[in-house]
Amino acid sequence: MGGRVHEPRMLADPPPAGTAEAWRARDLAVLWHPCTQMREHPDLLPLVPVERGEGAWLVGRDGRRYLDAVSSWWTNLHGHAEPRIAEAVARQARTLEQVILAGFSHAPAVELAERLLAIAPRQPGRPPLAKVFYADNGSAGVEVALKMAFHWFRNRGEEQRTRFVALENGYHGETLGALAVGDIPLYRRVYAPLLAEALFAPSPDAWLAAPGETPVQRAAYAADRLADLFDRHPGEICAVILEPRLQCAGGMRMHDASYVRRVRELCDAHGAFMIADEIATGFGRTGTMFACEQAGVMPDLLCLSKGLTGGFLPLAAVLATQELYDGFLDDSRERAFLHSHSYTGNPLACAAALASLDIFGTDAVLERNRATAARMATLAAQVGAGSRHVADVRQAGMVVAFELTRDGDRSTPFDPALRIGLRAYRAALERGVLLRPLGDVLYWMPPYCVDEAQLQLLAEATATAISESTSCA
Ligand SMILES: *Cc1c(COP(=O)(O)O)cnc(C)c1O
Repeated sequence: MGGRVHEPRMLADPPPAGTAEAWRARDLAVLWHPCTQMREHPDLLPLVPVERGEGAWLVGRDGRRYLDAVSSWWTNLHGHAEPRIAEAVARQARTLEQVILAGFSHAPAVELAERLLAIAPRQPGRPPLAKVFYADNGSAGVEVALKMAFHWFRNRGEEQRTRFVALENGYHGETLGALAVGDIPLYRRVYAPLLAEALFAPSPDAWLAAPGETPVQRAAYAADRLADLFDRHPGEICAVILEPRLQCAGGMRMHDASYVRRVRELCDAHGAFMIADEIATGFGRTGTMFACEQAGVMPDLLCLSKGLTGGFLPLAAVLATQELYDGFLDDSRERAFLHSHSYTGNPLACAAALASLDIFGTDAVLERNRATAARMATLAAQVGAGSRHVADVRQAGMVVAFELTRDGDRSTPFDPALRIGLRAYRAALERGVLLRPLGDVLYWMPPYCVDEAQLQLLAEATATAISESTSCA
């Protein structure tokens, strides 16, 4: 085996216990980190032991502060260690920490379902979303939605409805079912032989618009191609799954809301279900409580996770229509939806979610976010104007993205071997900001409590990260 071998530190003096250096060594001795080429630790990729969180800050074991500009993988909403959510979880933990959710019930699960259904997107003329099924992470929620859509048609005897349509450049998680409807080659390619075959429709992504084509025209073009897919597979498609308005893992790519409306219309016209994956966009991230609202559209299945608990605990909720639910009511157990996870509807997670929803009310979060988003727009425009490598600055509410290219235009992407994103990551970290670029796309997705001084730090660190990471080009 070629390559470098990590020297065990045993012979040298071990770092003093409790220091950042000691925790790094203990970590690398035993942990296998997610979404990481472990070979890159620690030389190419620093490893930051965190001691605690405080609002938008992460405080390292070395005492350094890092602004969490990615909300810890898009989960955090109101800041780290938010006292009201922490208190709600602690109270629940002293009361009921976990209970089987088959045959048994508990107040937090019921109350959370009621509250989610009350705030879920609606659409005139459609019966509202009516039932909540819990899972314990986003990918599991996606699996639930896919299985429900498929199984519903089986129960009806429409056995030819076996196909899912997903969007190019979409992302729905890492489990095999979720990967099958994802289109990010880095995550998907190696597992392709294991994956169910989905149909992929072109992304409405405004960045992919042809020269002179507007985002609305791009959306119309992509919707027409989706219509073609339906025509080519009559009666075969059970559902379309999409991330409305914002393809997050695909590079924070945004599309016009008219596309989401066309998906709704096409699903209706062809008798297929519409699955909205709002795992990342839900809970105010794109400006409205849910991104579907911007299109005035209600999906048949709505997948929620990430921000659902304010970023405290893993939980997913899949909201379904009454029509879907009724399709499983039968004397036969096989027609029931027998899917389950051990921690389905965990009371601690539900309590955290309820406390997070309370904060939306007491702190007028969506209103405050509007002001914060406006400030982010101003700062982002300045950062964008400061570098010839910024080809696009785009925003959807509390998400801002900078697309970096060699010549600042669409046709000159950087050579991936330059690892622009990794360089930017390290440069920002040096300045106390956790940015985690997606390829050559830098983005801001901070906790909603981010303040003016923190936004300024974010803008300065981003400008520096762009200039330092691109100086090699
Ligand atoms: C993160 C994400 C998922 C997967 O959620 P996990 O909890 O990481 O499994 C699914 N869909 C979207 C849109 C996501 O951003």
